[in-house]
Amino acid sequence: MKYVSTRGSAPSLDFAGVTLAGLASDGGLYVPEEWPRFTQDEITAMRGLPYAELAARVMQPFVGDCLTPDRLLELTTQAYGRFAHKAVTPLVQLDEQQWLLELFHGPTLAFKDVALQLLGLLFEEFLGREDGNLTIVGATSGDTGSAAIDAVAGLDRVEIFMLHPKGRVSDVQRRQMTTVRAPNVHNIAIDGSFDDAQAMVKRIFADADVTAKHRIGAVNSINWARLMAQVVYYFAASLQLGGPERKLAFSVPTGNFGDVFAGYVAAQMGLPIERLVVATNINDILHRALSQGDYSTGTVTPTAAPSMDIQVSSNFERLLFDVGGRDGAALAEQMRAFEASKAMRLTNAQQQGASALFTSTRADEGETAQSMRWAYEHCGEIIDPHTAIGLHAARHAELPGDIPVVTLATAHPAKFNDAVERATGTRPPLPARVGDLFAREEAYVELPGTYEAVRDHILANAS
Ligand SMILES: *Cc1c(COP(=O)(O)O)cnc(C)c1O
Repeated sequence: MKYVSTRGSAPSLDFAGVTLAGLASDGGLYVPEEWPRFTQDEITAMRGLPYAELAARVMQPFVGDCLTPDRLLELTTQAYGRFAHKAVTPLVQLDEQQWLLELFHGPTLAFKDVALQLLGLLFEEFLGREDGNLTIVGATSGDTGSAAIDAVAGLDRVEIFMLHPKGRVSDVQRRQMTTVRAPNVHNIAIDGSFDDAQAMVKRIFADADVTAKHRIGAVNSINWARLMAQVVYYFAASLQLGGPERKLAFSVPTGNFGDVFAGYVAAQMGLPIERLVVATNINDILHRALSQGDYSTGTVTPTAAPSMDIQVSSNFERLLFDVGGRDGAALAEQMRAFEASKAMRLTNAQQQGASALFTSTRADEGETAQSMRWAYEHCGEIIDPHTAIGLHAARHAELPGDIPVVTLATAHPAKFNDAVERATGTRPPLPARVGDLFAREEAYVELPGTYEAVRDHILANAS
């Protein structure tokens, strides 16, 4: 399997290459040259497989010759063996039509573990073959940082520098990063916002003083391997609810468009999906893009669902490429104009292509709280604010009554227990597997919000 850049001019790479590269050298994102497709019989034959085996089966076409089927199964078995639920991503029924797909049974309580637990192993595997090392530099508003640190802590060939905005992540999120004691983990709290941290990371990738000495890697969802791992749970849910004979719809709380793009990939692979509902909070650039063709940024407003407080959804570029005729040169032009003016119109082809499978809904803060209350009072389920936005969209999507609607439950409610308590009056306890989080010692450095301070710290401490 070869991968091409959405902007058309970076070299095509194999799976190992895209995993280590992250972003393409022309500024685009890597996508498979063509979508692998399963027959209905092949999908039916996946029924009843344990999650790790299903994962290996669904991912094998993307991995190509880079891993043997046996080796891939060893890696998925190791990655998903760390989940606290035997089903890895269990389904919970809410009413006749509504279901939750719980993606938060990994070590750091958010769905990002599903992809990052595997990505850490893939890094180590591919770096080992070339006797190389990788320095990961990332910025986080909370969930990506904790999941990435857990996934790579203690690995030999990978080290990680994770920037978080000082005082702007929750205590649970910060402690999940700073209490991990491993020589290859470096936590940095910067004076500034998440956007400031993100801007510094982008400069690191382009700084020749750094890249001459270190190979810099990415763990956010621009990395194709993350999306690939997320395709699996769409198959898992479908197979349990009557697929492939029966169609389902999914409602996906969305920020960077990674998770819901994985659903689009599942559909391209032959999984019968009636509709993908893109659920946003009041930071609704995707809702405006999908409903009106208007992809223009506003200012980010903080909400109870901070992992969705995003104004530029990186992975949307992958969809625009695929539904817009896979014309890299034209998309590079369109994206350059967007980066200059912070606004663009989708082409007719892009809008029509997207509306064939996607719809969108936006929930404000009141609707988010209301959705948490509905799940609690009517179904006895405590859900987190991100999941609540997905459920709000699912219940307002007006899908045919015989189509099961699966909302992706992206975080454990205890991770956002203040917002949950405000909405429901109940404070969910942290699960036992992270129980001593508040007793463990923290380690992080605090740096001023200047690029030079961060760069010098990385250069002084990277091995
Ligand atoms: C990251 C995250 C999201 C958004 O996922 P995207 O792939 O960026 O769309 C939603 N909910 C939670 C809890 C998250 O951590």
